[in-house]
Amino acid sequence: MDREAVPVTGVDGRRRIARTDVLLADPRLAGAAGRLGRGVVKAAVVAAQRRARNGEIPPDAVADAAVSSLPVTAAGLRPVLNATGVLLHTNLGRAPLSEAAREAVAVASGATDVELDLETGRRAKRGRSALAALLERVPQAEAAHVVNNGAAALVLAATTLAPGREIVISRGEMVEIGDGFRIPELLAATGARLREVGTTNRTTPDDYAAAIGDETGFILKVHPSNFRMTGFTRGAGVAELAGLGVPVVADTGSGLLAPEPLLPDEPDAASMLKAGAHLVTASGDKLLGGPQCGLVLGREDLVRRLARHPLARALRVDKMTLAALEATVRGPRTPTELALHADAAALRERAGRLAARLRDEGVDAMAVDSEAAVGGGGAPGVVLPSAAVSVPEPYAARLRQGDPAVMGRVEDGRCLLDLRSVPPGQDEALAGAVRAAAR
Ligand SMILES: *Cc1c(COP(=O)(O)O)cnc(C)c1O
Repeated sequence: MDREAVPVTGVDGRRRIARTDVLLADPRLAGAAGRLGRGVVKAAVVAAQRRARNGEIPPDAVADAAVSSLPVTAAGLRPVLNATGVLLHTNLGRAPLSEAAREAVAVASGATDVELDLETGRRAKRGRSALAALLERVPQAEAAHVVNNGAAALVLAATTLAPGREIVISRGEMVEIGDGFRIPELLAATGARLREVGTTNRTTPDDYAAAIGDETGFILKVHPSNFRMTGFTRGAGVAELAGLGVPVVADTGSGLLAPEPLLPDEPDAASMLKAGAHLVTASGDKLLGGPQCGLVLGREDLVRRLARHPLARALRVDKMTLAALEATVRGPRTPTELALHADAAALRERAGRLAARLRDEGVDAMAVDSEAAVGGGGAPGVVLPSAAVSVPEPYAARLRQGDPAVMGRVEDGRCLLDLRSVPPGQDEALAGAVRAAAR
């Protein structure tokens, strides 16, 4: 017999905790089992029985407790309101998808014409429509290819264009991208050799020119996206390297397709290609505001070689990613773009309204000015003026474990809920979560 199904006598000797099979027959739980799977529902039932046994809830409340603790989906990932003020929070999955992208994912998640021409009934180029969308937005690119992430784009470029050969790279651009992963080590793992040129703070076009020879696969320009170097520095731009007779690959990182006036130091694909880069690599889930993927844009012959390399098959993206990417590129402004461009005065007004309402309900809340950031290892040093609702520090943990979960930022003994990273449509949900945390 199932150990959890053994009836337990209550303190009064009469009330018993219902058996698991009895609880699972509750119409609400039986219905949920059809949607979420029996294992997921049973886990909620067992947890509720345990709470009753520990005296946390009355024995006759077990079914209700199990129902209210059911997860939203059969997967463990839970929705989180990002109130950190970090627009691209790596631990929260970087860019949140737009509504348009989510709808596209929902449609593409079933059987879909990702590799089929419905007119002829024949096989068609995978992801053609997403690639066309990218080329419309970046007319300077002759061709495009999409892989799993930015790192995969670099790996594919190195494997295809410099197998057993040299990648010429400045010592000032040997970047660690995060979580201990370093671009030079990533490249070396492909079997290419790194030919380091210049120094940490200064590299000239002549340094590159002197290193180029028969062994050169390509020149790699890496955007130092997560740090800034100031003082006695010199770098060589793509335009200065494009005429050296070898391909120039520009790893821009952030995925901007065109210049972003608010972030003048962030490179974009169109400008890099205009300056003469032969290939641009970038991430899809940073400033582009789309799904995790890696973009390769540039000269047709090079893109085709990358796309036809056997490794391309191991790095290919799924249909849902292609759908989300296309909807991101063609669709309305992404949540990331909207957050980046949100007006500071409007954020202050939102914070003031929210705090006043919460105060009326007896919650210790006040509106404060705040400083938000791009995040995701991008635009270091860029401060985005913002506003936050400040609540007592102990709320932070309760908000994290609430429904929806809210991730704030603890600063000077208060928990700040920064509104720049919270879509305006979520203010109601945020207020509800704070109210629950205050109880
Ligand atoms: C983020 C970044 C990468 C890695 O891209 P992922 O999509 O995280 O794999 C590579 N290069 C630069 C310059 C980056 O900023």
